[in-house]
Amino acid sequence: MSRWQDAIDAAGKLPEYMIVDGQRQSGSRAERIEVYDPGSGLSLGSVPVATIDEVDEAVQAAKRALTGPWSVLSPKDRGRMLWSIGERIRENVERLALIETLDCGKTLQDSTITVERAVDYFSYYAGIVDKLEGTTIPLGDSKVCFTERVPVGVTGHIVPWNVPISTFARGIAPTLACGNTAVVKPAEDTPLTAILLAELMQEAGLPPGVVNVVTGYGANTGQALTEHPEVRHITFTGSMNTGKAVMTAAASHVASVTLELGGKSPHLVLKDADLDRAVPDVLKGVFKNAGQICSAGTRLLVERPVHAELVSRLVDGANAYVLGHGLENPDMGPLISARQLQSVAGFAERARERGLSFCAGGNPVTVETCEGGNFFEPSIVDNVSSDDELAQSEIFGPILSVIPVNDLDHAIEVANDTAYGLAAGVHTLDVSQAMRFAKAVEAGQVFINGYHGGSDAVPFGGMKDSGIGREKGLTGLDAYSQIKAVTISM
Ligand code: NAD
Repeated sequence: MSRWQDAIDAAGKLPEYMIVDGQRQSGSRAERIEVYDPGSGLSLGSVPVATIDEVDEAVQAAKRALTGPWSVLSPKDRGRMLWSIGERIRENVERLALIETLDCGKTLQDSTITVERAVDYFSYYAGIVDKLEGTTIPLGDSKVCFTERVPVGVTGHIVPWNVPISTFARGIAPTLACGNTAVVKPAEDTPLTAILLAELMQEAGLPPGVVNVVTGYGANTGQALTEHPEVRHITFTGSMNTGKAVMTAAASHVASVTLELGGKSPHLVLKDADLDRAVPDVLKGVFKNAGQICSAGTRLLVERPVHAELVSRLVDGANAYVLGHGLENPDMGPLISARQLQSVAGFAERARERGLSFCAGGNPVTVETCEGGNFFEPSIVDNVSSDDELAQSEIFGPILSVIPVNDLDHAIEVANDTAYGLAAGVHTLDVSQAMRFAKAVEAGQVFINGYHGGSDAVPFGGMKDSGIGREKGLTGLDAYSQIKAVTISM
């Protein structure tokens, strides 16, 4: 265990405060949230639980900042500021990745990629700030009409625990690009990198109050932020039920919402697929981040002629996975918390009670040297029917449900047979089959012959119960600006 304590010590002093109006705040409540390393169970310290008044202070700071030095930066200078923030993060990739791994358990390699992804969001949107053009609308000779994009005001950002740093950046970079100010509430399990990013932004020159971070639980701090009448847009990433609560809160003061919710995404392998390519892709598509990815390909739809061979190869692959502490770069790290481990184990237990059996994994597991960690085996259940809980509910853990299908039409029917519509993938060498699937599947993003093949420039979001709106890319700017139309009568 002491090696994990040594790693925690090597990360340096971890933040135990919030950032409001550019100041560190330790919060007025005696109650604090203890933060743990999910790989070892060791404590990383604690953060405050912001009260309604403290959330209000953060929103008021963001509101004041809307008319401060931030508001008079030229678009070019605002772009330069975003670029500098990206560079400041880049200078700290190693430390941020270490802390992200300690905070949420993902492998160090994955953490490094997500910190670099955070840099990418800032550099991508940095280049756009001075290109946010409006339009002119022809109204005849006696009038001139033009539109411009103006900020929406203070935006609220509620972040989950599974990819904390890049989820923070994918909302904050475009909202700043559009000239807004923001208040962020990170997940209670993983608040650390959000606090550090807010400080790095100030070091890069961002004026105080432009980005504030309040810590706390969803039901008090999160709700106070979403109900705050001065918050004009809320970007929420999290579970479907919380998303509905956020939308209700936003409705009380007519704020707009972006909801990035859960998924139960289908990954289809047709009989002509290149299995050498499909096997690692299916495994990575579902087991990356221990299955705690909203767009994970958790339902494998496989055409019957290749069903037996594919499952056998996937089982071999899953059984070869090495589990361990994220800092050791294993194939798979721990789940975020004991609570999440219990939830995933519950899905497995209930599946067994319904008569399903696991052809790989299916159990919590203790990993040597990580006895306090929350590990669950990479798991595969074959011949799951489309109406089973394992095919319908988001598990958010490393369980793959295999559903054999007769042909492409059957696959499309099964693919669309859930409340969700976040992502989908298909492996085939036949471009017509791939495109028929891509057109028919109800999903915000479709991956052909390479799951999770997107980037910071590709719009991301869900259909049906997976959410409203899109983040990333140029489309991601729409939520953070509003159109003002000016008509001049001559
Ligand atoms: P969650 O809904 O429990 O919590 C998400 C965030 O909402 C946390 O910060 C939490 O404190 C806050 N929250 C909880 N109740 C709230 C309330 N009443 N008002 C305001 N805020 C509240 O979700 P989670 O368990 O942390 O994250 C996992 C979920 O997130 C999964 O469903 C996953 O699919 C989804 N997710 C979606 C995306 C996406 O981009 N679509 C990305 C990552 C995770």
